[in-house]
Amino acid sequence: MNNIIDRYRELTEADKTKVIISSAMAEARKIIPGGNVATYIPELGNVDPNQLGICLFPLTGEKICMGDYNKRFTIQSVSKVIALILALEVCGAKRVFEKTGAEPSGEAFNSLVELDRENSRPYNPLINSGAIAIASELVKEISFYDLLRFTRVICDDPEININEDVFKSEISTCSRNRAIAYLLESKGLITSDVDDTLNFYTKCCSMDVTAESLANLGRILANDGVFKETGDRIMTSSTARIVKTLMLTCGMYDGSGTFAIQVGIPAKSGVGGGLLAVSDKRAGIGVFGPALDEKGNSIAGINLLRNISNKLRLNLFYDPEWNEDE
Ligand code: GLU
Repeated sequence: MNNIIDRYRELTEADKTKVIISSAMAEARKIIPGGNVATYIPELGNVDPNQLGICLFPLTGEKICMGDYNKRFTIQSVSKVIALILALEVCGAKRVFEKTGAEPSGEAFNSLVELDRENSRPYNPLINSGAIAIASELVKEISFYDLLRFTRVICDDPEININEDVFKSEISTCSRNRAIAYLLESKGLITSDVDDTLNFYTKCCSMDVTAESLANLGRILANDGVFKETGDRIMTSSTARIVKTLMLTCGMYDGSGTFAIQVGIPAKSGVGGGLLAVSDKRAGIGVFGPALDEKGNSIAGINLLRNISNKLRLNLFYDPEWNEDE
């Protein structure tokens, strides 16, 4: 026993982090059977639910990747973070927040109930209604190809493309998003062509990324919008701050509050099983685990982040007096 403890003490910080992540992976794998892949987009129903991968990319130190970290999957709602960054940069915060609010919704990601009230707007840009309103502004300024190129840069992943099968599957079945778009149009919150807006939005969701690409993106957000190695600023400091704040308060659908208590870092999930998390000033984290809980978040991914956040003390409100197991 002492031998094992002595050997653990001799490990480098990076090796200790690897031990923590690998044991958290083993724990998280056990709960995969409690989740299900999304099937409302028919093509996503064909994804193997047993996959799990993570990439943690610290600002200083080596990138740690495990499991299915380089498997491609569709980014889905994590693309709302990228669209929001671009909208803030291209259209400006004033225009963005004329179209959507900045409050948690407490409703399902694809809810349209709030849109039926007089003078209401989507709660925030990280749920479907808000992201569709944002897409309708972006289509006035940029092409989808501009957004794709930006995504390749910010994710440091030139291989990102559209998964055509998932795109076709979603665009031909997206009655709910279509209903949201028409409601937004009726309220004057969409002034672009509805089909163009939905095509743009759905293409954003169909980009195929890896957990590693998401970690690269998270690392730029963790570093105040600056690419560490070159010093290139990819977005303003204000954009990085707004995006991280909205991820912390609204990024995990109607599970955002519980996630904030349990994990305590900004994150955004997607129904493809992706999770983007940001440990500010420390690391970007990408996770892929397509089995989802009832709210549409990766069931194993949340468990993994919870364990890692506890063990690596990532919670923004970390207090050394806490008992980690509480
Ligand atoms: N493309 C999906 C939709 O619009 C994204 C949902 C999500 O990942 O939350 O329903």
